[in-house]
Order: sequence, then structure tokens, then C-alpha cells
Amino acid sequence: MRTVQDIRSEAAPLRAIAGRSEVDVDSAETAVRQLLRSFGRDPVGSHLADTPRRVALAYAEMLTPRQFDLTTFPNDEGYDEMVVATRIPVQSLCEHHLLPFTGVAHIGYLPGDRILGLSKLARVLEMFARDLQVQERLTRQVADWLQEHLAPRGVGVVIEAEHLCMSLRGVRAGGSRTTTSALLGLLREDARTRAEFLSLTRTAA
Ligand code: ZN
Repeated sequence: MRTVQDIRSEAAPLRAIAGRSEVDVDSAETAVRQLLRSFGRDPVGSHLADTPRRVALAYAEMLTPRQFDLTTFPNDEGYDEMVVATRIPVQSLCEHHLLPFTGVAHIGYLPGDRILGLSKLARVLEMFARDLQVQERLTRQVADWLQEHLAPRGVGVVIEAEHLCMSLRGVRAGGSRTTTSALLGLLREDARTRAEFLSLTRTAA
């Protein structure tokens, strides 16, 4: 298991990107202890003694992207076919209930000036997913990041996710999935390109 120090050191460069401040695990632990008291539970009892620390660390981890290199490369080969990664696992936390939503993302772009290693598409997703989120914003942030850093001819992001706040409470719509999409450039404007991308994501679904 990763320690607070690991989480902190891995996260430092990414906080700069995402504009987030560091997670204070100690004060989170105190707050969770208070939360348990508010629920009528005894947080120093033998069963729950370690729970506040564990919860604080679990949330710190879920809110902290791992460190990774998102270097982009010039598209020297002039590659002009669509690049698509499908069914990338996505885990995030809903900002309304602090409960997870999980599912898959399909991310594609039509290369222009610059390209990014295929595995890095999942990292871009993680950078924004390890945050308090709404699915619509997460989808848009991934698309905007690719647009800004790759200057592609088009970008498409589709996320399908199940929200625990819908499955476990409220409407209790277990198994229902929410789909969001963000299409930019030719993937938005050109019907044939858009259809190509969407059919690739549907085949994957
Ligand atoms: Zn929610």
C-alpha cells in the first residue's frame, strides 16, 4: 500500500497542472473521526480505531493522480488516421456525494501537429478523474487537454459510467449507466469522421 509520503511526492508535479492543493491526511483523519461520531458510532472503539486513518488515506489516493510523463511528440510521419483507445477503465469521485463513479472511456483524436503515446491517453484521463468530479466536466476536460496539447484535427471522448450515488441511494437505479461525450473539430463537424469514431466506441461497448 502506498504511504502518505508516496502519495505526496508522486502528486507534486500534477498539482501544478491541475491547480489543486495538497491533501492534508492528518486533518482528514480528524474529520472522519468526527464524521463517525456524527453517525452515532464510536471512532475509538476497537472495530473502528484504524478506520479514520484508512478512510483519509483512501480518499487521498483517489484524489491524487499518479505521476506520469505526458510528453507529446511532433507528428513527423504525418500520420493522419484516427487514433482511438477504447474501454479505458475510469474511476472518479462524484463531487455531490463523494461516492465513486466507475466505468469506461473511449478516447480518440485525428492527429495534427503532435501525437501522444497511446498509453498516455489513459493517463490524461486519470489526471482529471482523480478529483471531485461530475462526469460531464471530466469528459470535457480530457477533450480540452488533448485539443490544447496536440492541436489535433479532431478529438472525441465518450465516458460510460455507473454512479454509486444513483445505484445505492436516491433512485437506486442499480446497473444504469450514464453516457457523456465531448466532440471537437472534425469529429464534431464532419459527419463521416464522427460516425467512424462513434462506431468504434460502440463496437467496444
Ligand atoms: Zn453523486
